Amino acid sequence: MTNETLWSKREAAVPRGVGSMHPVFAVRALNAEIWDGEGHRYIDFAAGIAVTNTGHNHPKVKAAVAAQLDNFSHVCFQVTPYESYISLAEKLSALAPGPSPKKTIFLTTGAEAVENAVKIARAATGRPGVIAFSGGFHGRTMMTMALTGKVAPYKTGFGPFPGDVWHVPFPAPYLGISEADSLNALEALFKADVEATRIAAIIIEPVQGEGGFYAASPAFLKSLRAICDANGILLIVDEIQSGFARTGKMFATEYAGIEPDLMTVAKAMAGGLPISGVIGKADIMDAPAPGGLGGTYGGSPLGCVAGLAVLDVIESENLCARAIEIGDKIVRRCEALRQSDRGIGEIRTLGAMTAMELIQDGDPSRADPDRTKRIVSVAREKGLLLLSCGVRSNVIRFLSPLTIPFEVLDEGLDILADVIRET
Ligand code: PLP
Repeated sequence: MTNETLWSKREAAVPRGVGSMHPVFAVRALNAEIWDGEGHRYIDFAAGIAVTNTGHNHPKVKAAVAAQLDNFSHVCFQVTPYESYISLAEKLSALAPGPSPKKTIFLTTGAEAVENAVKIARAATGRPGVIAFSGGFHGRTMMTMALTGKVAPYKTGFGPFPGDVWHVPFPAPYLGISEADSLNALEALFKADVEATRIAAIIIEPVQGEGGFYAASPAFLKSLRAICDANGILLIVDEIQSGFARTGKMFATEYAGIEPDLMTVAKAMAGGLPISGVIGKADIMDAPAPGGLGGTYGGSPLGCVAGLAVLDVIESENLCARAIEIGDKIVRRCEALRQSDRGIGEIRTLGAMTAMELIQDGDPSRADPDRTKRIVSVAREKGLLLLSCGVRSNVIRFLSPLTIPFEVLDEGLDILADVIRET
C-alpha cells in the first residue's frame, strides 16, 4: 500500500491525538536506514526518538530476542522470576553513577519508570512534594504530565493533574536563564511556596530532551546535589533520553561526578524492545513494602535479554567514544552552514545529543518554528529523517544510531546541507 493510502486509513483508524512526525510508513529498518512500502530509503537521524542507539535490528540484539522467544516470551517476574532480570539489574546497578550499593526495578515505559521513581521517593521520605523543571518532559501519564513543564500539546485538556508538584526554571543560557536564576528560584520557592521538608524529590533531565537539548552543567548538578543533601530531599535524574552512551558516557550524569539517589532509564536500553527501569540506592529502593512495586509486563524476558545484548554492544563497539565522534562531525558541518546563514542559532552538543536552533535574522530571541518544520519536511522528501524539539519548537535534534557508518552519516549531513541552503 502507498504511504498516501495508509495515511488516509490511519486518519480513520487512529485518534488524531497520536502524532506522527513523518507520513511515511516503515516496512524495514537496518542500522541507520529505514525503508517504506514504496521502496524509498531514509537515513535515520531520529532513532525512534533516541531508542535505537545500537542501530535497528542489531544482529546481537536480534539473536538474543530470538533465542529467548524459543524458550518463553512471558511468565511475569512476579509469578515465576527469571535470571535475565537479575543479570540486567546487577549490570545496571553496577553501571549507575556513584559508589553506594544499588538495586534496580524494571517497568515497561519511560513514564512508568518516572511514576515509580516518585512512588519510591515518597515511600522513602514520607514526604509528598516533587520539584521539576520548566521545559522538562517526563511522560504522558497523570503524574508525569504534572512533572512535565511544557504545556501544549502534552497537557492540553488533560487536567487536573496530581498536586504537590512545583516547577523552577531550567538553566538555559541561550534562552537567557542562568544557573543562578534557577538556584534563586529554588530558594524563593522554599521561602514562599513550600517548606523544603515537604519535598520528597527534585527530578531533572541532565540533558533536557523534548525541551531542546539543553545540558545542565556539572556545577549546576553538583549544586542540586548539595541542596538535596542539606534538606533531606532525594535527587532523581531522568536519563530516559540521555542514557546508554548517547552523550558520550553511559549516563550523562557521569559528567557531573555526582551520585543521584534514583535514576530512570528506558528508550535505548533494549534497542527497541519496551522496557524501562529505576536504579537507585539500595536502602531507598527497599522503602516500598513487598507488592507495592511491579507490573504485569515490567522487565519482560524479551526486554531483559535485549537489554543485556545492548550493554554488550555499547561496550564491544565502543559506542561512548563513537558518540563523541558523531557529535563532533555534526557540529562541524552545522557550524560551517551557520557561516552563511543568519537563521541558524546556537549549535550545541553533549556527545551525540546534538541540536541546532533555528532563529530569525541572527536574533536568538526570535525563534523560527516555521522554517524548522519546513526543513524537517523537505529533508524527509530527500531521504533524511529529522526530529524537531524545544520549548519554542525551533530546534532540530540529531539522534542517529551510534552505530551509523560514517559514510551514511556524511550522506545524511550532505542532504541536511542542501536542505538548509534551499529552505
Ligand atoms: N522522560 C524523558 C526524559 C523522555 O524523553 C521521555 C520520552 O520522550 C519520557 C520520560 C517518557 O518515556 P515514554 O514515552 O517511554 O513513556
